[in-house]
Amino acid sequence: MATGYVYDPFNLKHTYPGHPENHRRLERTWDLLQQAGILASLHRVESMPAPLEAVTGLHRVDYLERLRQLSQQGGGFEDPDTYVVAASYEAALRAVGGLLHLVDQVMAGVVENGFALVRPPGHHARPHRGMGFCLFGNAALAARHAQQAHSVERVLIVDFDVHHGNGTQEMFYGDPSVLFFSIHQYPYYPGTGALEETGEGEGRGYTVNVPFPAGVGSQGYLQAFREVLAPLARRFQPQLILVSAGYDAHWMDPLAAHRVDIQGYAALVGHLVELADELCGGRLVLTLEGGYHLEVLPHAVLATLQVLARNPQEVRDPFGPDPVAERDGAPTIQAVQRLHHLS
Ligand SMILES: [Zn+2]
Repeated sequence: MATGYVYDPFNLKHTYPGHPENHRRLERTWDLLQQAGILASLHRVESMPAPLEAVTGLHRVDYLERLRQLSQQGGGFEDPDTYVVAASYEAALRAVGGLLHLVDQVMAGVVENGFALVRPPGHHARPHRGMGFCLFGNAALAARHAQQAHSVERVLIVDFDVHHGNGTQEMFYGDPSVLFFSIHQYPYYPGTGALEETGEGEGRGYTVNVPFPAGVGSQGYLQAFREVLAPLARRFQPQLILVSAGYDAHWMDPLAAHRVDIQGYAALVGHLVELADELCGGRLVLTLEGGYHLEVLPHAVLATLQVLARNPQEVRDPFGPDPVAERDGAPTIQAVQRLHHLS
């Protein structure tokens, strides 16, 4: 069975000159995927605007209305980092809608797994406002959609973007049906994601943060996957795995200070493919979050698709590993294991 992807040129209209989260991220990625010749072996899943009720399940109606009006008036700023232009409201609805459609195709068995190459990103968006370049919580909305439209009870969301997925965490903080696992640089933007943030009420224990200091790289991320994520996932028994796939932990990324390389991303995605095979029939859906180096991002996405399509031997890393040795992530991992009773 093929790997699916979503790509919608409309999403390029959401852009702002000089902003790191601009249309060239996706445009360059699309160019490389075409040059590499990988698209013919993948299954294109149609993009479409999400129905409003899919978005209002986790976002406030008055926020949607405010965003719609802001777009209609030509745009503005949702917060100092987060622009809105005339096309943004529809682009954000299409980012969600394309991802939901990909989830539908995976749940129906049309494709085995997939990657939604969408913008704007989602994991910082809060129920009542956009934040951190994000307008709607794409991954969170996909989790809720899988539960409501496909009777999935337990969804695992893995967030390997270098920033903490505060929006996703907030939406499911008291909800034991969604296990949220985030690796990120800490302390760093957006300020949340401390070890001690583990959920509340019935959701206690279903938020798992791995707050790595600056300097951690591929080995630390992989160790966290093997020694924290894998045992957690086996305990939780998800029926679907969603991934907030940001590539700003790459060592060349201009916005952060982690040291993952392309082969590291390929290994992380390979680990997720294995976990999905073991636990949920291979059902694994990624959605694009950050990644701000315009040459690195396309290659990281290409490597991800090669691994999803079960051709990891095709992965090439034109940038190589960071020449600086990475910092040891083991102390953080051991602290997470103790807190979540994994050791
Ligand atoms: Zn990020």
